[in-house]
Amino acid sequence: MQYNVTVIGSGPGGYVAAIRCAQLGFKTVIIEKYDTLGGTCLNVGCIPSKALLDSSEHFINAKEHFKEHGIDIPAPKVNIKQMIKRKEDVVKSNVDGIAFLMKKNKIDVFHGMGSFVDKNTILVKSTDGKETKVATEKVIIATGSKPTPLPFAPFDKKRIISSTEALTLTEIPSHLIVIGGGVIGMELGSVYARLGSKVTVVEFLDSLIPTMDGTMGKELQKVAKKMGMDIYLGHKVTAVENKGKEILLKAEAKDGKVLELKGDYCLVSIGRRPYTEGLGLEKVGIETEKGQIPVDDHLKTKVDNIYAIGDVIKGAMLAHKAEEEGVFVAEQMAGQKPHVNYLLIPGVVYTWPEVASVGYTEEHLKSQGRAYKTGSFPYKALGRARASMDTDGLVKILADKQTDEILGVHIIGARAADMIAAGVTAMEFRASAEDVSRMSHAHPTYMEAVKEACLSATENRPIHL
Ligand code: FAD
Repeated sequence: MQYNVTVIGSGPGGYVAAIRCAQLGFKTVIIEKYDTLGGTCLNVGCIPSKALLDSSEHFINAKEHFKEHGIDIPAPKVNIKQMIKRKEDVVKSNVDGIAFLMKKNKIDVFHGMGSFVDKNTILVKSTDGKETKVATEKVIIATGSKPTPLPFAPFDKKRIISSTEALTLTEIPSHLIVIGGGVIGMELGSVYARLGSKVTVVEFLDSLIPTMDGTMGKELQKVAKKMGMDIYLGHKVTAVENKGKEILLKAEAKDGKVLELKGDYCLVSIGRRPYTEGLGLEKVGIETEKGQIPVDDHLKTKVDNIYAIGDVIKGAMLAHKAEEEGVFVAEQMAGQKPHVNYLLIPGVVYTWPEVASVGYTEEHLKSQGRAYKTGSFPYKALGRARASMDTDGLVKILADKQTDEILGVHIIGARAADMIAAGVTAMEFRASAEDVSRMSHAHPTYMEAVKEACLSATENRPIHL
């Protein structure tokens, strides 16, 4: 079988690359080791986590907020089996959608482990032992990532679990200990906190969601506390033991004090690592660096016809980053001159309220010695937020001190995940804070907080504060 392009891995990087390659006229094949397409994102990542986040949000609204809206219902109960089943239905409809898109774009699909024989030949070994050789001009590696275990407490997948198992629990933990207060830990922690678990988050660094602007971490911590979560920052976990139905955790604070926790599940969400096992990189002379496949600015590996994209290379481990890179590589292969603006890849945490950011953080600007100004606007001063009783949060704008160009948009609040696209657009067109503050924003909307924060950044003259 002879192809122009072979894509290994069908996550958002791989399947989007394959579609763009097919659109550009390349005869394309995609190889996926699992039975379903869509990779981490669709099967055990973005989509199932958002399905559970939404279900648990409905539950907490019914339990705690309906009454205030004048809706009286008997006390709601969680049916965890149905919740998980709905999540699985959502996953199925999404992964089936990818299979449909492959057919529509006439992309051949092989299920099995893909590995290099040489730079133009890939061997596909399916689970039933069948072997197929694929001859190809070019290869895109999009093999993604896997959860990182603690070196001293590997996942047992029963009590010491990764995000994958946390998405399929059949009971609600009574005490879920979450190691790592990053995006995945906070999202899944909030799911179970809403469903009634006691949730304790232990984070090594001094802030939650530490890669985001510091204000976001502080605000999220307030929200998490309001939800009843216990948060221990600056604590290094030193031991996790599975005692059957109980987990014992020890962590050390900076002052040497030892924290001991007992729970029934421990979610280890300390990050993810690139996945290249079984790919046979040695057959083509590619060596990983810190687990990642090294690529140049064109996302080409050291081998002329082999590219790599997504979680398996440097950069943020995000589905939309992988997608942009898939399109970028395909268009380059077709002789086009595409571009990915890595500064403007937004980051989102789908807690409620949501957190969303794009551009530079205040910490980064400070470290660069860049002259900047800030403007912020709290949700509680927003009519729309009051109407829906979603008053937690704020918008923070960072702008260049001299030129007023927007350098960063950071939002914690209802619908932040969708609102951040406006920040990306403004920054892509290099808008100033004044530009945005002079545009009409529909009333009443959450987006008015962005306009007000821009007014605040540009001339410190918000209207509603
Ligand atoms: P992956 O999606 O990991 O796909 C790689 C695929 O390659 C896999 O299907 C794997 O089976 C296959 N593969 C590997 N090796 C081989 C081989 N040798 N042969 C054949 N197939 C192979 N990101 C967001 O942007 N938004 C979110 O809301 C979000 N939520 C997340 C929630 C959770 C719980 C998790 C775990 C992740 C989340 N992410 C989110 C991250 C996102 O899932 C990843 O960044 C994204 O999936 C990376 O895409 P990828 O194509 O690089 O790799």
